[in-house]
Amino acid sequence: MGSGDATPVLAVWQRTAPGVSVWGRSRAVVHWARDTRGEKGRIRSEETLGRNTDSRPHAAVVGSGFGGLAAAVRLGVRGYRVTILERLDQAGGRARVFEQDGFTFDAGPTVITAPFLFEELWELCGRRLEDDVDLRPVHPFYRIRFDDGDVFDYSGDAELMREEIRRFSPEDEAGYARFLAMSERIFNTGFTRLGHVPFDSVLDMARIVPDMIQLQSHLTVYRLVAKFVKHPKLRQVLSFHPLLVGGNPFATTSIYTLIAYLEREWGVHFPIGGTGALVQGLLALIEGLGGELRLNADVSEILVENGRARGVRLADGEIVAADIVISNADSAWTYRHLVPESARRKWTDRKLEKSRYSMGLFVWYFGTKRRYPDVAHHSILLGPRYRGLLDDVFGARLAPDFSLYLHRPTATDPGLAPDGMDGFYVLSPVPNLEGDVDWQERAEPYRKAVENHLADTVLPGLGDEIVTSRVMTPLDFRDELLSFRGAAFSFEPILSQSAWFRPHNRSEDVDGLYLVGAGTHPGAGVPGVLSSARVLDTVVPEPGVRRS
Ligand SMILES: Cc1cc2nc3c(=O)[nH]c(=O)nc-3n(C[C@H](O)[C@H](O)[C@H](O)COP(=O)(O)OP(=O)(O)OC[C@H]3O[C@@H](n4cnc5c(N)ncnc54)[C@H](O)[C@@H]3O)c2cc1C
Repeated sequence: MGSGDATPVLAVWQRTAPGVSVWGRSRAVVHWARDTRGEKGRIRSEETLGRNTDSRPHAAVVGSGFGGLAAAVRLGVRGYRVTILERLDQAGGRARVFEQDGFTFDAGPTVITAPFLFEELWELCGRRLEDDVDLRPVHPFYRIRFDDGDVFDYSGDAELMREEIRRFSPEDEAGYARFLAMSERIFNTGFTRLGHVPFDSVLDMARIVPDMIQLQSHLTVYRLVAKFVKHPKLRQVLSFHPLLVGGNPFATTSIYTLIAYLEREWGVHFPIGGTGALVQGLLALIEGLGGELRLNADVSEILVENGRARGVRLADGEIVAADIVISNADSAWTYRHLVPESARRKWTDRKLEKSRYSMGLFVWYFGTKRRYPDVAHHSILLGPRYRGLLDDVFGARLAPDFSLYLHRPTATDPGLAPDGMDGFYVLSPVPNLEGDVDWQERAEPYRKAVENHLADTVLPGLGDEIVTSRVMTPLDFRDELLSFRGAAFSFEPILSQSAWFRPHNRSEDVDGLYLVGAGTHPGAGVPGVLSSARVLDTVVPEPGVRRS
C-alpha cells in the first residue's frame, strides 16, 4: 500500500465522533503507523509493517509488573491482541528474579495474600491456578522480634493470636477482637465494594464519603489501632502493615487496616519455586491468549495525537502502533517522562513534583553456606524506635537505626538455594531520593550495618557464612524500574492521594490511555495492582467498539 491510502482510519474516527465508532481492525493501526514513518521514527515491527495478520484491536502494555501481566490476561480474554513492552531483560518488574551462584532470589513481593485474585485470572482462561502454581500457606505469617528480644508470632490462627495477645497484655484481648471486627467492616467496604471501582469522577468520591466517615478513614492506621489496644508493642504489631505497601502507619489512612482481615481470612502464601512462579504462570496464560511479550523494549514516549494515545515509541526509535495503551510503568514516571507535556492538563510537572512519594527500600539479597532452621519464613525485626524511625524515613533522613523485614524463602522451598544452604533477603525502609543520601557511597557501609545487626540478633556468625550477595538501593529503583524519586511503592498511600485523588485507571489527560499498577487506584502491593487491572474491565471499551 502506498502512503496515498494512509488516511482513512483517522478520518473514520473523526467522522463518527462523538459517540461510538467501530474499530476497523488492525488496518487502522497499519495506516497510522505508515503515516508516521520517517516523520516520527523507524517502523520495524511486524504489526506496524502490516505483516501482522491478527485482526484483533491492539493493546500495547508498557511494563510487565503484576499489574501489567494481569491487565494483559484480562484484555486478551476480552479479545484484544496484547503486546507487552518491557524495558528489562525479564518480566515481573518488582517481582523479577535474580539467579546468582545457585540461589534464586525473588527481587520483591514475597508475602502473597488474596490468592483468589490470581485464581480469578486463571479461571478467566478456563484453567485452575493450582494446576500451574503450588501455593503453600505460611505459618506464622510473620515472626515479629522486638529490639529487647521479645517475639510475637503473628498468624491467621484465631486461638494462637489470642494467646499471643494475652501473653503481652491480657487486658487488650477484648480490644483486639473489636479491632478485627472493625478490620472486617473496612475490608467489606474498602476492598470488596471499592477496590475495583474506577474513581473516574469526583462524584464517585463524594458517594463514598459517608462510608469513610463511618469507618473513620480520616484516622491513620496507628490511631485507629490505638483506639482498640493499649500495649505499645501490640500497637506496633497491629499497625506495621502499611509499610508493606509503602505507607507510614502514622500517616496512612486507616483503610489499610483491612489487610489484617484479608490476611486472616485468606492466609499468607508462598509459591514453590518462589514468587517468580506466579510471573511465569501469568506469562503462560498470556501466551495461550496469543499475546506477545517483548523484552528489552524501552518505551520512551506514549504517542498522542489529537488527545488520543496512538501507540508508543521505543528508545531505539521504533514505533509500535496501538488502539489503546496501558501503562504499567510507574504512573508518576508515565506522566512526567512518557506523556508529552503538551498533552497533560491534570498531571502537570508541577503537580507531580508536589506529590508525596512512598519510602525507598534498601534490599540486600544474600545466601549462606549453612541453614538457619530457627528463622521463620517472614521475620520483622523492629528497632529501638518506631515512630521516630518512621519520622526519619518519611522525613528524608537516613537513620542510624532500622527496622528490618527478613525473608527466608528456603524455609518453605529449600530448592531455592543449593543443598544445605539458605537464601535470604533483608529489606530496610529508607528515604526515597528526595533525601540527599549518596547511595553510591553509603550502600556498602549500610549493608555492613544491617549484616552486623542480623548477626547480633537472629543470624549468629553471619559474616563467615555469606557466599553470595547483591544489593538494591533507591538508585536502582529509579534507574532500572524507572520509579519516580526511586520510591519503592509509587505515590504515598495517604488519604489525599487515594481513590479519585490518585492518577486514574482511565487517564484524565489522554483518551485511550489506561494505567495499572502501584501508582493508580487502588494502590501498591500485589492485591492492589491485580485489582487495578480488574478496574480496566470497567473502563476499557469492548474490543471492536470505541467510545469517544
Ligand atoms: C522489595 C519489595 C518487596 C515487596 N514485598 C511485597 C509483598 O511481600 N507483598 C506484596 O503484596 N507487595 C509487595 N511489594 C509491593 C509489590 O511488589 C508492588 O506493589 C507490585 O509488584 C508492583 O507491581 P506493578 O504492577 O506496579 O509493576 P512493577 O513491578 O513496578 O513493574 C513495572 C514494570 O514496568 C517496566 N517499565 C517501567 N518503565 C518502562 C518503560 N518506559 N518501558 C518499558 N517498560 C517499563 C519496569 O521495568 C517494570 O518491569 C514489594 C515491593 C518491593 C519493592
